[in-house]
Amino acid sequence: MSDCIFCKIAAGEISSKLVYEDDRVIAFEDINPQLPVHVLVIPKDHYDHIGDDVPEDLMGHLITVAAKVAAIKGVDKTGYRLITNIGEDGRQTVIHLHLHVLGGAKMPLRMGPAD
Ligand code: AMP
Ligand code: ZN
Repeated sequence: MSDCIFCKIAAGEISSKLVYEDDRVIAFEDINPQLPVHVLVIPKDHYDHIGDDVPEDLMGHLITVAAKVAAIKGVDKTGYRLITNIGEDGRQTVIHLHLHVLGGAKMPLRMGPAD
């Protein structure tokens, strides 16, 4: 998609702090980190979110890469969260499928609705 910021990052048209790259996937530091470790894992091809007919092997690869990223960032033993926001209620702001790898601190217990 021509006006998609993550497509532009995947194409190298917008710079990012690269953490991992292969032929199908790129991982880079979130520009506004919410925790000491906050990396985004995205497919190079554009899908809006996980409900956008993403091939299962690509979805599996994204999750495998997320685990690899956690190891690269040194949080694989201490633990981390893998989050993908979908749509308005999920507060997705960038409409290009991405997994957040979040770690480096204890997460809040609560995962319910906003206050
Ligand atoms: P979401 O709310 O799940 O759509 O998350 C989008 C994430 O993308 C946010 O955490 C933003 O901080 C991050 N983000 C937006 N633009 C960039 C960028 N140019 N480089 C890195 N991360 C970005
Ligand atoms: Zn895109």
